[in-house]
Amino acid sequence: MVHQVDQSKDVLKQDEQFVWHSMKPYNPNLTMVVTSAKGAWVTDINGNKYLDAMAGLWCVNTGYGRTELAEAAYDQLKEMAYYPLTHSHLPAVKLAEKLNEMLGGDYVIFFSNSGSEANEAAFKIARQYHQQRGQHNRYKIVSRYRSYHGNSMGALAATGQAQRKYKYEPLAPGFLHVSPPDTYRMLDSDLENAQDMACVKEVDRTMTWELSETVAAMIMEPIITGGGVLMPPDGYMKAVKEICEKHGALLIVDEVICGFGRTGKPFGFMNYEVQPDIITMAKGITSAYLPLSATAVKKEVYEAFKGNDEYDFFRHINTFGGNPAACALALKNLEIMENEKLFVRSKELGDQLLNELLAHLQNNPYVGDVRGKGLLVGIELVKNKATKEPLATGMVNEVIGTCKKNGLIIGKNGVTVEGYNNVLTLAPPLSLEDNDLSF
Ligand code: PLP
Repeated sequence: MVHQVDQSKDVLKQDEQFVWHSMKPYNPNLTMVVTSAKGAWVTDINGNKYLDAMAGLWCVNTGYGRTELAEAAYDQLKEMAYYPLTHSHLPAVKLAEKLNEMLGGDYVIFFSNSGSEANEAAFKIARQYHQQRGQHNRYKIVSRYRSYHGNSMGALAATGQAQRKYKYEPLAPGFLHVSPPDTYRMLDSDLENAQDMACVKEVDRTMTWELSETVAAMIMEPIITGGGVLMPPDGYMKAVKEICEKHGALLIVDEVICGFGRTGKPFGFMNYEVQPDIITMAKGITSAYLPLSATAVKKEVYEAFKGNDEYDFFRHINTFGGNPAACALALKNLEIMENEKLFVRSKELGDQLLNELLAHLQNNPYVGDVRGKGLLVGIELVKNKATKEPLATGMVNEVIGTCKKNGLIIGKNGVTVEGYNNVLTLAPPLSLEDNDLSF
């Protein structure tokens, strides 16, 4: 039922008093109080329904309201709610085995609670791996501008968006940045050969000039998501992996958003013919029903931690990582993805969505580019199609506000050189129904 009188006022009054919200300045006029959700739809306290084309924060991959996920967690909580993973339990073992199978084998899994933590674990593993092998100077981590890798001091240091770091620096030392591939702003001739791309050469040059023997790893998302859905040119990721190998650096692939079907494959890297050394994942692993993340590490990296010295093991612990209920829920979540063929669905619906958006928006004077893979789409808004000057953030906000008034929640990302947020983003639940798409 849609209420005529705004029911959110009292809650928001309390909310303002007690809850510290992330990211944006608090604005009760824009803050929704969400009370229920089903499929791809969320309902606010006033009874208004919205199609959530961002799946929360790019994370509710199997959609809202899956009672079987709640039941999987409930059953496990009754059986055995908690035991630390300094020992073992069945849900963690089964989930690790399942993830390993999905990744193509030969990985061991370290569990944490969030994407940031999964990346922190990856950085520590990469650094210690080299130490274990006697390469004591390898500590630098290379990352890309425009990327986002998390909110903690290391993950934020790896992040390539200056405005997120402003006022929190100095962060963790030893993180370097290189240019990302921004296909929309590259010349067609730049795209012909991956090895010749300026952004690929920059990775090689940076690792050379920094001295290869000081570089521990490179971290990258297969597709930069939060920085504006930057589609890498063909061959880019493979070329970067080869450069890492040449310099003896590990490749960490951040699958926090791209994983679990978002790009039409189980994991984003599977689109690009590479097999990473370390893979981090969170969000879609439980479709965000409970917190859980994982750092998958190639067996040969893991083997280096098996010495007899008391400093040879991975000295990293967290209380909640691999919580049994979260693992049991994740297993059920992966089962749903498999049974409902959601990765294939993501590809098919994604292709359809991209085609329809292109057909509708191609001639719009403010739409510079429509791009994506699977159910991950970016629409880059520009003031001028010829110069590609980004549309001012205020106008982008107006578009988002109009969508919301019409019952559609979309995201806004970007961070082009001047700090604009001019890319509209779509990352709906993969369980989207045909009717939802034509909404
Ligand atoms: N990596 C990527 C690519 C992300 O988008 C995010 C969060 O949005 C993170 C890491 C951090 O994940 P979390 O917010 O769970 O710490």
